[in-house]
Amino acid sequence: MRNKLEKMLEMYFGFSTFKQGQKEVIDSVLKGNNTVAVLPTGTGKSLCYQLPAYDLPGVVIIVSPLLSLMQDQVEQIQMRGEKRVVAINSFNTGENRRAIFNQLDQYKFIFISPEMLGMPSVIKRLQRLAISLFVIDEAHCISQWGYDFRPDYMKLGKVREQLGNPRTLALTATATKEVVNDIVTSLQLKNWEEFLFSVDRPNIAMKVEEVADLREKDQRLHELVSYLNGPGIIYFSSRKKAEAIVQLLKEHGISRVMAYHGGMDQESRILIQQQFIYGQLDIVCATSAFGMGINKENVRYVIHYHMPLQLESYIQEIGRAGRDGNKSIAVLLYSPGDENLSYHLVENELPNEIQISRVFAWVKEKSIDSFGEYEDEIRADAGLNDVQWRILSDFFASVETSVNELESILNEFQEFIKKRIQVKREKIEQLKNWTQSNQCRREKILNYFSEDKKIGIEPCCDICGLEMESYQKEEEKEAIAEFPFNWQDYLSTILCKE
Ligand code: ADP
Ligand code: MG
Repeated sequence: MRNKLEKMLEMYFGFSTFKQGQKEVIDSVLKGNNTVAVLPTGTGKSLCYQLPAYDLPGVVIIVSPLLSLMQDQVEQIQMRGEKRVVAINSFNTGENRRAIFNQLDQYKFIFISPEMLGMPSVIKRLQRLAISLFVIDEAHCISQWGYDFRPDYMKLGKVREQLGNPRTLALTATATKEVVNDIVTSLQLKNWEEFLFSVDRPNIAMKVEEVADLREKDQRLHELVSYLNGPGIIYFSSRKKAEAIVQLLKEHGISRVMAYHGGMDQESRILIQQQFIYGQLDIVCATSAFGMGINKENVRYVIHYHMPLQLESYIQEIGRAGRDGNKSIAVLLYSPGDENLSYHLVENELPNEIQISRVFAWVKEKSIDSFGEYEDEIRADAGLNDVQWRILSDFFASVETSVNELESILNEFQEFIKKRIQVKREKIEQLKNWTQSNQCRREKILNYFSEDKKIGIEPCCDICGLEMESYQKEEEKEAIAEFPFNWQDYLSTILCKE
């Protein structure tokens, strides 16, 4: 006799067995526990809230950090025939948004961006619902010391309280013990169950290749993408470089390649993501903006042209390969001094001392106690980019401010920034050490995540004697199937354009 959960799995999702960790997490949620689950990329974390949804009376609210990610999840749910699903984000405008809010209680799954949860009118609407489960996807974004910190995520503890402390499920693929602590503290969970599974992905071999300089790197990259079995993703820290490499590869006759980064408009980004998922592109040259939660099974390689800013990102990014369980490879190309770009990025992401002083001088002069309508003026005056502004304004909003205390707030903020830079620099050093080490790559990463077990994985990494031959391109594939619909129509539907 199979038990109830297996029956639901079959009935609603058509799967016969649970993947590692799913059942434990679902059990915990259904028992009514707040639950923190760290499960590797591709293990099916979405199911951990989607299945319980069918056993719970009310609505499930899912906080998701990226619009494309949200869209992806909504479509997957719809494809199963579930119509009671909606995404609330900056894309819904006017009529469309009103229509959604007027029938909010008809949905089973409400995906929402953290920005939207910052709006009192939205909270008011949500407060009227019977919320069975409050899900935070990609929960590592909560941690200030995590690599992918999003200031909006910091407010989720307060949001949770405003919604009456509903049962909560936090999901992420990578979290050190520190980050798990931050998640729990920030969400103000008093009791919770936690499930931490290995970050290891045994079917992904790891390789670090050192090259002399950037010219050699370009050359090696071209060799690799010509040689390796695709499709693949190449990660860059620089948008410009990602685009330049697309050009370079095209000049060399590799045509089905596109760039993807945060500087592109939303429509192009979704288009490229979908074309890649549907097999119309072989390679995406991307920044870290690409891939969180991307659900493509057969990515065969991930190459890092630039090293990421920390091992957590590295693990996340290579985790986009081999979701089907088939063998895949991750290659990191390192040239001496690459870490300097990383240091530079980290410092640019945070407001510097001069900028901070300017903001505070401005506030003092005008004698204001909130930034509110002055945002544009302040930003222009201090030359703050989006991320810098968000960090600064969030900090400001999180402390009691009065003009008299400006001095001490200024000091506190400078300290806060210094500490973040320090943490981030250490993470860059750890990653660089990893590239230079003679220890098994996998083992060293697992140690970093406080795991000590490595079960005889073969092929493991370049240190353990990896052979590249088995990752070589197979015969050129048959002609590629035409995609069954028109991209223009598709985009206008999912972007809710009238
Ligand atoms: P994650 O969020 O952990 O990266 P997803 O929730 O996006 O992973 O799921 C990855 C893929 O695994 C999806 O295609 C999903 O349909 C599939 N999947 C989830 N659970 C199961 C299961 N029990 N059996 C087979 N496939 C599953
Ligand atoms: Mg996911």
